Amino acid sequence: MILPIVKYGHPVLRKKGARIENITPEILTLVQDMFETMEANHGVGLAAQQVGHALQLTVIDVTGITDRPSTLELHGQPTDVSALMPLVLINPEVTPAGEIAKGGEGCLSFPEIYADIERPGIVDVKALNQKGQLIEFRCGGLLARAVQHETDHLNGLLFIDRMDKQTKADLKPELDDLQVQTKAELKSAKK
Ligand code: ZN
Repeated sequence: MILPIVKYGHPVLRKKGARIENITPEILTLVQDMFETMEANHGVGLAAQQVGHALQLTVIDVTGITDRPSTLELHGQPTDVSALMPLVLINPEVTPAGEIAKGGEGCLSFPEIYADIERPGIVDVKALNQKGQLIEFRCGGLLARAVQHETDHLNGLLFIDRMDKQTKADLKPELDDLQVQTKAELKSAKK
């Protein structure tokens, strides 16, 4: 099922996700729905908060994106990124493992808003997958960026929090409009 995507201004985007202790049938349905929702919106990542659930759960798929390459190391061995896609991360822990890199980002909760964001170019990731198995890998490029952007969501952080001051100031009118619109929609939905 394709779910509605929560936009900037909705309070759930600022909530830290609860750890998932049991991978229940409801969680597996949510994972499936999140993949369908991400695909329908042509995203490379989607966090549970973006469909209204404050949980430590995100889905990522960088398959087919060739203009912004990704790298992957499994057990210290360079591996084709497709080996890990599509990717479900539950309770992820992300550790920087490389120098800061600047790259363009967008977010399905911020339609039409894009900016360059600085983040570590390589990260180590430890998480559970949807089968409850521990997965560990090192990644770079677009995948490292997506993992960090999505893990931020799980902690209530948004890419606007990582923009430099000038970029955020330049985007302020659009961000304010979006926030006002989302709050108005929430208010009218409650009536
Ligand atoms: Zn996002």
